[in-house]
Amino acid sequence: METKKSEWAEVRQSKIHNKGVFAKKDIPKGTYIIEYIGRKISNDEADEISERETTAGVIYLFELDKDTTIDGDVPWNPAKYINHSCEPNADSINDEDHIWIEATKDIKKDEEITYDYCLDTDDYEEHPCRCGSKKCKGYLTTKNKE
Ligand SMILES: [Zn+2]
Repeated sequence: METKKSEWAEVRQSKIHNKGVFAKKDIPKGTYIIEYIGRKISNDEADEISERETTAGVIYLFELDKDTTIDGDVPWNPAKYINHSCEPNADSINDEDHIWIEATKDIKKDEEITYDYCLDTDDYEEHPCRCGSKKCKGYLTTKNKE
């Protein structure tokens, strides 16, 4: 598989966590920045991964529909390097069975691209957030689990 390239963003070293994805140029709000790609697996298989692994694996799972999940933990998916933030500038959306990372704000060149992982896991306390935002929830957890 060829590594997915985006005209808008690229992987660089991040201050938040190891690698991150950064804007190569100004990105207008509403832009589809990069497609989130990976292996297509069944939702049953995704459940097994969720049970077996803690966050590391779960973060990369995107449910496409009632049968299928995308497991983005593959080398050809640079979107997996996008970090979580409690005050993100992008979000993941499902557009006709493709997962896209869409800009929810105007993003400046060289800004790090982030979205809210909304992690649905019981052991979220093991996964503190270091996004540095004033609105930081402290953990990579779901919005409704505050
Ligand atoms: Zn945070």
